[in-house]
Amino acid sequence: MENNKAFKNWLSDFNQEQPLLIAGPCSAETEDQVLKIAHQLKDSGTSVLRAGIWKPRTRPGNFEGVGAIGLKWLQKAKAETGLKTTTEVATPHHVELALEHDVDILWIGARTTVNPFIVQDLANALKGTGKTVLVKNPVNPDLSLWIGAVERFYKAGIIDLGVIHRGFSIYEKSKYRNNPQWQIPIDLQNRFPDLPLILDPSHIAGRRDLIADLCQTGLDLNYDGFMVESHIDPDNAWSDAAQQVTPETLIQIYNHLKIRKTTDSASEYNSSLHLLRSHIDVIDQKIIELMGKRMKTAEEIGLLKQKHNVAVLQSKRWNEILGKMILEGKQEDLSEEFTISLFKAIHQESIQHQKNIFKK
Ligand code: PEP
Ligand code: MN
Repeated sequence: MENNKAFKNWLSDFNQEQPLLIAGPCSAETEDQVLKIAHQLKDSGTSVLRAGIWKPRTRPGNFEGVGAIGLKWLQKAKAETGLKTTTEVATPHHVELALEHDVDILWIGARTTVNPFIVQDLANALKGTGKTVLVKNPVNPDLSLWIGAVERFYKAGIIDLGVIHRGFSIYEKSKYRNNPQWQIPIDLQNRFPDLPLILDPSHIAGRRDLIADLCQTGLDLNYDGFMVESHIDPDNAWSDAAQQVTPETLIQIYNHLKIRKTTDSASEYNSSLHLLRSHIDVIDQKIIELMGKRMKTAEEIGLLKQKHNVAVLQSKRWNEILGKMILEGKQEDLSEEFTISLFKAIHQESIQHQKNIFKK
């Protein structure tokens, strides 16, 4: 991916002043539904109409998409509105049909990105077509798998690439349907700054009231655009009803977003920022020193445990620390989620230090 400068080329076909907006129903249901939503989205800031034609459902027995007939509806919607179109492809046969029906952008779903064999088959099927491909993150939080899929398309000569962040599956109950884990797309963005990054707030949220906030977070983190599920009658959608919004709501969300600049040349901004950043640097230095001290103390405990032949992991003590730190963290305005992940990482490192002592 040496020449990743090419990546943002396809984005320049769209209005660069505004984040790219891809919108449309989770699934194409009927010709009438697709045409109606396309006309309603036409003047909403939307550039690309999305609709799932083949739906990968986690469990059988749910609506699995209308199939190839839906591609004709997308084609008609494009002819009537001028919107570009996009749909999910999961097999080389889907690719062939989507190409026949002139779909502009193909996206790779989260359940496909996890499988390098299928991704390779799709890359082979797309070779030489000049299509734009957007790769959703894999369902599991694995950055390499995501990068690997992008590399397979890139190696097949598909340079108009982008990625879609749709969150990662969660086992525990959470306010999100899929955990955003912002650090993963941020790491991807740092590695490939010219790879367009698109946020899918709909599949992260799973519910429509969280979409506006997620979009603002995306903009604050320099995302290039959004893919939002929008339906003419969300409550009666055949799939993902709870997370879809009407075109009116979508327009409201989009118009209320605060578009941020990447920087500002004002000297007052730069000198204040410089000062605050130097404070942060000093604090970060202290955090590292304290962590070093904590680990040295953990090693002393390790020696003591070794001498008395006591196990490294002491669950009762660990739960006490965690409970206490969550309360302390709250006093400092730290979220419970943050304190837990911070102390899990510290605890893991402590155990590692103690284990090293045991090995000696
Ligand atoms: C979708 O976009 O409707 C979809 C099925 O998405 P994902 O692959 O992110 O689950
Ligand atoms: Mn969906």
